[in-house]
Amino acid sequence: MKPFSQRVRQITPSATLAIDAQYKQMLKEGKDVVGFGAGEPDFDTPDNIKQAAFAAIKKGQTKYTAVSGINELKDAIATKLKRENHLDYSREDIVVSCGGKHALMNVCYALLNPGDEVILPVPYWVTYEEQIHLAEAKAVLCPTEKLQIKARLIEEAITPKTKAIMLNSPCNPTGSVIEHAELKKIAKLAADKEIFVISDDVYEHFIYSDEEHVSIASLGEDIRRYTIIVNSLSKTYSMTGWRVGYTASTKELASLMGNLQSHQTSNPTSIAQWAAVEALNGPQDSVQLMKKAFGERRKFIVKRLNEMPNVSCLMPAGAFYVFPDISQTGMTSMRFCERLLKEANVAVVPGAAFGDDKHIRLSYACSLENIAKGMDRMETFLKQHGQP
Ligand code: GLU
Repeated sequence: MKPFSQRVRQITPSATLAIDAQYKQMLKEGKDVVGFGAGEPDFDTPDNIKQAAFAAIKKGQTKYTAVSGINELKDAIATKLKRENHLDYSREDIVVSCGGKHALMNVCYALLNPGDEVILPVPYWVTYEEQIHLAEAKAVLCPTEKLQIKARLIEEAITPKTKAIMLNSPCNPTGSVIEHAELKKIAKLAADKEIFVISDDVYEHFIYSDEEHVSIASLGEDIRRYTIIVNSLSKTYSMTGWRVGYTASTKELASLMGNLQSHQTSNPTSIAQWAAVEALNGPQDSVQLMKKAFGERRKFIVKRLNEMPNVSCLMPAGAFYVFPDISQTGMTSMRFCERLLKEANVAVVPGAAFGDDKHIRLSYACSLENIAKGMDRMETFLKQHGQP
């Protein structure tokens, strides 16, 4: 048989989704497993959003829509960008896609040429690297300092082939938030060198300090022209299954992504789009409730992790992940995760999937009871087996 696509054969399946699938399968088999795998809020989608979907079905809003999204949703997104990020975008700058992941894939395909370089601070979300490769570009891995992105380190990674910098703040998997002074330096660097910034803002609402999320696009007209904002409703409104994400960029890039999408998926699901209009325009109190709960869980899980032998964990400022260092156990992150799942029935994601083998990732978007149970098991596991 002739070989399948080289480009697709070289990608590895998403580790986050693979571990989530394994965890759900174990649950189905009746196993008493605790999952810290996929980053998926444990809250239900708010009722007003569900009602908007029912209403859309009843009204027959179940047919093709404009490829890049209905005007009502684009207007709701533009209003959100103004209200929360102090940015002016219009309908033609916005493309609605089937989740943030799809929006990011559109950006990679529409922006990158073979051989272009994209600077990717490590650790990075598992999907970025593969999407860059699918677009036949090169991911240039760039170190961070104590899990913080630094402009100086990004600058050192720039070459004449650098096309874009990937930023994700708050960050998946570390939860770290880029310091404002660093963000300003990165903005200046990118604008001066005419490098695009792909700004994945999906965790913007989950920052636990008093700081407000600052979109790099809001730091001046120069950088705004080079920024592609990527966002999604999945985390903010606990709508992971609905698959609604979007980009805000220039109308030229938006038009390219719209053309691409017209041959890929067509529009995102019409019903989910109407639900998204309600999510963005309706009451926002569910977001605050989730944030409060995540904030409490964050403190609890970090405290418990730091009490365990051979584990050290920084207090993340945002998102809903912790990224403890387990290198003192002498195990690779993959070995650690395999053993933790097999011997203690606790599912976590190896840092190796995010380009960092010294750490593991735990999502604390699950109940405090689950966290306590999982931490008890992990502590026992480490006391019994975790010595170097
Ligand atoms: N983004 C979430 C995570 O990192 C969901 C799973 C995925 O799409 O990777 O766990």
